Amino acid sequence: MARREARPPASREVRLTPRRMHCVNCEQRLWVAYHAQRTLMTFRGLVRLTLVVRRCRNRECELYHLPYRAEEEGAWALPHGEFGLDIITVIGQLRYGEHRSIPEIHQRLESRGVTIAQRTVTDLLERYEELVALHLADEERIKARLKQQGQVILAIDGMQPDVGHEVLWVIRDCLSGEVLLARTLLSSTQKDLSALLTEVKEVLPVPIRGVISDGQQTIRQAVARCLPEVPHQLCHFHYLDEAAEPIFEADRHAKAELKKLVRGVRPIERSLEKGENEQTDAMRSYCLAVRSALTDDGHPPLCASGLKLHNRLTQISDSLARVEEKRGAFLRP
Ligand SMILES: [Zn+2]
Repeated sequence: MARREARPPASREVRLTPRRMHCVNCEQRLWVAYHAQRTLMTFRGLVRLTLVVRRCRNRECELYHLPYRAEEEGAWALPHGEFGLDIITVIGQLRYGEHRSIPEIHQRLESRGVTIAQRTVTDLLERYEELVALHLADEERIKARLKQQGQVILAIDGMQPDVGHEVLWVIRDCLSGEVLLARTLLSSTQKDLSALLTEVKEVLPVPIRGVISDGQQTIRQAVARCLPEVPHQLCHFHYLDEAAEPIFEADRHAKAELKKLVRGVRPIERSLEKGENEQTDAMRSYCLAVRSALTDDGHPPLCASGLKLHNRLTQISDSLARVEEKRGAFLRP
């Protein structure tokens, strides 16, 4: 169905890069082929995903030219969907966990800031139902596709948008993007996850060449137990990014407050334009140091811009205090 209004611009940009740098089949380097774009509605607002897509360039390889998309993409959304898997999970939970009607679910989503048509809620509930009803053993289309590519790389993700609710576990193949199994579990122990992995392993028509996850302890244990020979790659960035979100917000606020304190640097610089002596030169250098501190951004989640600015301003202020101690305060020019 066509949308009547254009969507507002995305409030958040996320770039996803494949963790794998080498072809799983021939071990040769994967080359960046192109970037794909998707815009998703999620509980954290409208997100624009930029996906780096790589390809194997070895003509002899079975996976030659097959696009390899960022593994994490499937944790955000199902293929071709416009709504995040977080929203689909909550729709399923409200319907089957709390027995809510479609209008009630619609209202609940709207109250959480999700712009969605009631008709779309029905469609997404169908997606959820298909997902949890999926039995790989009966899916000839998926099995044929997997046979053609000769192997799979599994990704395992637990979706729990609301704390305290059951978790929707999704196991998918990173080469084809196909979901292989999805189950909701009340507890997610090593035993529970082992059972899911075993179920997938038993019906797969091809070998598992790798596993990718965020590295939760129970997942690690389950993979080590069920797939002892398979390399397990951890995808820490996403995990870290999620965990750092509240810190990032606090840091952004702190930075804005710090910036207010040094707002007067431009007028001071202007008043220094006329003077040409040792003192004005020194003051100009201090102004420059303040301005370069203001533009030196950190890269979240590993480096907080506000803390960085605080460090740099503290150094400048300490230096000024040392000057004052030795030579007395700067005189107004
Ligand atoms: Zn290859």
